[in-house]
Amino acid sequence: MMRMISSYTSRLTIGSRHEGLQMTTPEATIAEVRTDVRRFLAEELAAASFRPTCDSWIQGHSVAFSRKLGDRGWLGMTWPQRYGGGGHSARERFTVIEELLAAGAPVAAHWIADRQTGPLLLRAGTEQQKRTFLPAIARGRLFIAAGMSEPDSGSDLASVRTRAVPTATGWRVSGRKVWTSHAHRSHYLLALVRTAAPDGDRHAGLSQMLIKLDSPGVAVRPIEVMTGESHFTEVTLDDVDVPNGMVVGRVGDGWRGVMSELAHERSGPERYLSTFPLLAELVSGGTVDGETALADIGSATARLWALRSLSLRVQDLLERGSPTDTAAALVKDLGTRLEGDIINITRRASQRGPGRADHGALPGLLRAAQLAAPSFTLRGGTNEILRGLVARGLGARDA
Ligand SMILES: Cc1cc2nc3c(=O)[nH]c(=O)nc-3n(C[C@H](O)[C@H](O)[C@H](O)COP(=O)(O)OP(=O)(O)OC[C@H]3O[C@@H](n4cnc5c(N)ncnc54)[C@H](O)[C@@H]3O)c2cc1C
Repeated sequence: MMRMISSYTSRLTIGSRHEGLQMTTPEATIAEVRTDVRRFLAEELAAASFRPTCDSWIQGHSVAFSRKLGDRGWLGMTWPQRYGGGGHSARERFTVIEELLAAGAPVAAHWIADRQTGPLLLRAGTEQQKRTFLPAIARGRLFIAAGMSEPDSGSDLASVRTRAVPTATGWRVSGRKVWTSHAHRSHYLLALVRTAAPDGDRHAGLSQMLIKLDSPGVAVRPIEVMTGESHFTEVTLDDVDVPNGMVVGRVGDGWRGVMSELAHERSGPERYLSTFPLLAELVSGGTVDGETALADIGSATARLWALRSLSLRVQDLLERGSPTDTAAALVKDLGTRLEGDIINITRRASQRGPGRADHGALPGLLRAAQLAAPSFTLRGGTNEILRGLVARGLGARDA
């Protein structure tokens, strides 16, 4: 039984077959990409360049590692080559990131720029912005933080109060952003700001602009979390001058930009693989015994596989430019619940009798995962809000 679960769990990272999805990338290509990433990760682990962690796309910040990924062409993978991208399929990118996350590799430095800012710039940026920012992001040399949330604007994002007023050359921005991941280690902040009064439509009059984080008037204060780390920050903007060329998309059209970012933000493998290194370590120890523990692991593995299928489907829709809000919200709601359940399963297994699991890296991974867990269902939109979106998408709710 244990062997069966172990091989089933390893299929999560080995398997490349996916039924029901329009396959545009040959299986042989996917297998080749997977082998390359695994070889790279094995070399990096052998060289002790990183230690696997849970939640490595938030907690695992390494400029050197991001640069290595950039040098190998594993950032900006789907972007056109003329902007420094790789011109690869979404499926190839998915393969690379699920391998990196499953291994608990430190990918936080470039995560936001690669996942959401780049795609936004491709869709709505000016030619100048694409040529300036995309190649540097794809090389792992330019990191961008997401400046959406404010002290009184999280779930209700349209209520942001950071204001930008026009000047002769652009905009003067004042306000406060909070929970801004890695702003103290990034080069730019992509900020959602109010450029005009809402005039009846709360989503109107918002704009997005790229603000250089070393500009006069910008102060970034790291916020310490329970682990003792400071992965997010508070950013104060005090009369910061932003040139016109840094507005992304049309002035007043910021809400649309943010929504397109959120679809990328909510649907990827990071929304169900944050605690995968824990599950893999639990199984690899081979000491887990007893019907309950085995049933728990089997059930978590089946849920992972189903979520992976849904996430792949959303990537496919995103690539085609089709609406994905409901499915993306579903991936994040179900995925983050599973991430928490994996912690509970491991905790139970490590408390049980003679065959109890407490080998190798397991206790350390479990401790860190438990401390990170409260954020899983908050960041990127809380689960309550996401369920509202799903209900609306299914026609079960009007507003
Ligand atoms: C680890 C981490 C990293 C983050 N990184 C970033 C980042 O890089 N950039 C960024 O901009 N933000 C970031 N955030 C912020 C995150 O997006 C917000 O925390 C989130 O949107 C919730 O907003 P809030 O914290 O203001 O909570 P609130 O909106 O105040 O919600 C508090 C509680 O009330 C519930 N609630 C609120 N409104 C409703 C409603 N209408 N119906 C039912 N329940 C409701 C919520 O579900 C929640 O449980 C990060 C957060 C975390 C934890």
